[in-house]
Order: sequence, then structure tokens, then C-alpha cells
Amino acid sequence: MTALSHGENEGGGRCGDSSAKWMPRTENDELHRKDCNRRLARIDCVNNLHRPVAVFPGSFDPFHLGHYDIVARATQIFPQVVVGILDNPQKKSVFSPLERVEMISELYLGRDDVIVQSFTGLLVNFLKEVDANIIIRGMRAISDFEYEFQMALMNRRLYPNAETVFLTPKEEYSYLSSRLVREVVSLGGDVTGLVPESIRVLLEDRIDTLERPT
Ligand code: ADP
Repeated sequence: MTALSHGENEGGGRCGDSSAKWMPRTENDELHRKDCNRRLARIDCVNNLHRPVAVFPGSFDPFHLGHYDIVARATQIFPQVVVGILDNPQKKSVFSPLERVEMISELYLGRDDVIVQSFTGLLVNFLKEVDANIIIRGMRAISDFEYEFQMALMNRRLYPNAETVFLTPKEEYSYLSSRLVREVVSLGGDVTGLVPESIRVLLEDRIDTLERPT
């Protein structure tokens, strides 16, 4: 696990205790994390009720409208949704984890019910850090099922409190994936209506770095 994946119990304090320690990688990252903890604490401590926090994990490289649709559905069910961006140093990405945090956070400015953070290592450790026990996954088609089913059972084994909830997107987004979006842009195709507009612009700026399908 690297520094970026750890939660901090600062900025007003959470209701629950957390012994997690972290080291800021950049000043921006530290400020962002303090803000996340302050917003989590605000919801957590209202009337001293413990409300379920849900984590929607993924690479989100880039975040597209299928992801956006799942977050919208999740916030109808759970009072707080943490979009957890997997920081996998082994995997080449178009946008760095910090860039992804920034571009996705921008979509939810002014919203206390959606928080965006990156994490490394095991998802269940991230759940514990943000005091969540719900994992949200998008289920596009039957082809997603086998892998998702295995992951849900493994996560439950690692953390019995974890419950995985599957949500389905609008049909028009059910064929969308980040890989497909990257491929279309790499070949000069237009992804308007498939990714948020601000992300489309950033993606087209990176066209030279995108891997073309072989
Ligand atoms: P992608 O599959 O687009 O590369 P991720 O690996 O980051 O994206 O996936 C993160 C989560 O988003 C997973 O639960 C995945 O099933 C879900 N997801 C991905 N694409 C869609 C989509 N088009 N509609 C609904 N959920 C999706």
C-alpha cells in the first residue's frame, strides 16, 4: 500500500475511531483528503446516527456516463457514496490517480453525498478506512457476472461485514467501457454523449498518449 491509499482521522474527527495513518503525497492531496473526512464526518455525526456509506470502486480511466449513471442510482439508495479510484502503479493509465480524483470531483462540486478518493491495495481495507460496508458494482451484461460474483464472495470472505450491491445502468450505457472510450478517441472518434463533456475535452488532449487497438 502506498501513502495515497490511507484515510486520515482529521478535520473535525469521525464518529468512529480509526487508527489508520497516512502520509501526504502532495499538498493538494492532503487538502483534498481533509475535505473528504470533514464531509464524511458531517453526515456521520448528524444526530449521531450511523448511516451506511457505499463505495463504488473502479479504475475510472476515464469516468464515463455509465459510471455517472451508477453513482446517480447509488445516491438514491445510500446517503453517501465514495467513488474509490484504484491507484494501481502496475497498470499504465491515461490519467494519474490524482488527475482522476480532480476530474471526477469536479462533476460533484457542491455535493456532500458524493466523495471521490483514491486507494491502493485491497478494497476491503479502503472500506474500513472510510467506515463503509457497502460495495457498489455496475452490472452491464451477463458477461460481467462471473467475475463480479467471484469478487463479491472474496470480498465477503476478507471482510464479512461487506455487502456487494449490483446496479444496472440505463440501457444506452450498457455497452460502454473505459477501454472502448479510449479506443474510440485514439482513432479520432467522437465520444460526445458517452463521457461528461469536461472529461471528453481532457481525453482528446491526451490523444497522442492513447494506445490504439491492434
Ligand atoms: P470500465 O469497465 O468502464 O473500464 P471500471 O473498471 O473502472 O470501468 O469499472 C468500475 C465499475 O463500473 C465496475 O463495477 C463496472 O462494472 C462499472 N461499470 C463500468 N462500465 C459501466 C457501464 N457502462 N454501466 C454500468 N456500470 C459500469
